[in-house]
Amino acid sequence: MARMLVIEDNPENMELMTYLLRAYGHEVVTAPDGADGLDIAQRDGIDLIVCDIHLPRVDGYEVARRAKLDPKLRRIPLVAVTALAMVGDRDKVLAAGFDGYIAKPIEPQEFVKQVEAYLPASLRTSAPPTHANTVAPAPPPAVVTGARILVVDDSKVNRDVIQSTLAPLGYRVTLAASVADARAIVARESFDLIVSD
Ligand code: MN
Repeated sequence: MARMLVIEDNPENMELMTYLLRAYGHEVVTAPDGADGLDIAQRDGIDLIVCDIHLPRVDGYEVARRAKLDPKLRRIPLVAVTALAMVGDRDKVLAAGFDGYIAKPIEPQEFVKQVEAYLPASLRTSAPPTHANTVAPAPPPAVVTGARILVVDDSKVNRDVIQSTLAPLGYRVTLAASVADARAIVARESFDLIVSD
């Protein structure tokens, strides 16, 4: 378990990243711009910083520059998460002082593993990257693969994350945005499991 700081000005990206990191047991503190982010990093015992590039007040490049000049902050792993895609951007991000780079859009199934690659092993909570000679983690024991799952959640971000996590494991996932929708669906179909917000 690590204490992470996420600096991001886009509320949907922030919601998705914090949801995923917390789902894996990490503690997350957030900042909407680079100036607040640097303040928080100074005060709190942060193990890793995830940082957007385009930010109000102090942008990601400047966060990296200042963090790496600061004796207190320079050892904290600093990971850029950004949609920059042009040739050379990656080099520019690393040259600014970032330890690594994760491209947006965020892939819910990969994101936590990608972030944890920059953490010491003792602070990681997700499974290690799969090797040919290691066994993939088993699905939750209560439900067999192929089970029909109804997910009731009013947040589209949550619904999308849950679906993209369960569907590749072989579950048949149906989404409902409200209890009324869920009732109507349950009247027509049966489910092995209902997951409700
Ligand atoms: Mn941004």
